[in-house]
Amino acid sequence: MEILNPENFTSGQLVSAAYIRVSTDEQALDTNSLSHQIEIVKAHSPDVLFIDVESGSVHDRKEFLQLLDLIKKGVVNKVIAKSLDRVLRNDESSQELKRLIKKGSFTLTLINQGKVDLTNSVGEFSFDLQALFAIHELRVIKERVLSGFAQRRAQNKAGVRPPSFYRIDEHSKYVLDTRPCLCLLTDRPLDYLNLYEEIDDSDKLMCRTKTHIARDIVEIFIQTSSGNKTLRLLHEKYGVPKKVPSRLNKNPRDNQKVKRMCIATVDELLFWASGDSLQNWLMNPVLQGHTAYCKTREKGLKLDSQKWDVHKNTHPEQRLITDREAEKIQEIMELNAQCRIRQNATFYLTGLVFCQACTYKCILKRNPRYAYYGCRHSSTGCSNHKCVRIEKIDQAIITALVERITITRQKLRVSEKVSLESTQLIKK
Ligand SMILES: [Zn+2]
Repeated sequence: MEILNPENFTSGQLVSAAYIRVSTDEQALDTNSLSHQIEIVKAHSPDVLFIDVESGSVHDRKEFLQLLDLIKKGVVNKVIAKSLDRVLRNDESSQELKRLIKKGSFTLTLINQGKVDLTNSVGEFSFDLQALFAIHELRVIKERVLSGFAQRRAQNKAGVRPPSFYRIDEHSKYVLDTRPCLCLLTDRPLDYLNLYEEIDDSDKLMCRTKTHIARDIVEIFIQTSSGNKTLRLLHEKYGVPKKVPSRLNKNPRDNQKVKRMCIATVDELLFWASGDSLQNWLMNPVLQGHTAYCKTREKGLKLDSQKWDVHKNTHPEQRLITDREAEKIQEIMELNAQCRIRQNATFYLTGLVFCQACTYKCILKRNPRYAYYGCRHSSTGCSNHKCVRIEKIDQAIITALVERITITRQKLRVSEKVSLESTQLIKK
């Protein structure tokens, strides 16, 4: 079956669509749930698929809105879905769909029970009940999840998803991942191809575990003080491609496909996609032997780390970093955050600073800590190799301006031709 691209449709052309949705949690627990649903609806040969990986409690789902739009434009006149809870778990979507079905804009067929009929009161009652049940079910799921969280918290148990390089053992405690890891390029032995047949715990193999690598990451970060630099070094050292080559093209639907592919592949990689996610990992209390609960507010928004409920020493023998290292990491991150603020600052002096030796304009140069101006020709002939930090230039300008004002004021006082306005100026 060929699945068409909804953007190629013109109005007047009637097509059938299938709507598929899994929540992010469902997707995380069972990566097959999406493909399973696709298989089911494909059996009904729709012309086009709409897929959302999002909670049904949200009305503004990207592809769902796109589908509604095409229904209103009269392009889509038939929709198939596995069941009503896949289509909606909120009141707004339910009302909107009912309105469109009653208007005759489209027909909705649910695979588990057939075509939705709103022409009589029984049919409408049945639809309302199912919609209500879908909404209620979501509340029950939420309640169950919350009570599960509370229970885990009370018993100092690990969260649902362990941070990288950790696993959750049978007692629901965090443990370091000590499985061997194969991805060493820079320090592999010359005869590594001959080791192919060796058994897993052979002495000839460099039995480097995930924990060894995790320690390595911590040490490299403390040395380089930068998430991005650490990642770059790690990718070089362990020979892991940084990211899936993202040849993102102009078609947004293809873009999504590539993104989905990237998520799947990045998951299998050893490292993170960005320096920021590496820093988030380093800040996870699990690495210091603690467990943090209540890290998110409603709708998955992350809470500030100061507001987390941290239970200390839940797995002290499984800590990856010492208190001293944790302090050091905290310091580095604070400094990096300050630098980031400065990076976003506008440098108003650019173009106004000149080299004393060659009289050309100076350029802004930076390192992670400081920003400074230096001669643009210092490496190509100019004898002036000095650089001046912007704070120093700022200070010099302020001093010069203050001096200028003082002199002007003195001059004004001496002068007999001071007008009324000028006296007011002096008072100010
Ligand atoms: Zn110069």
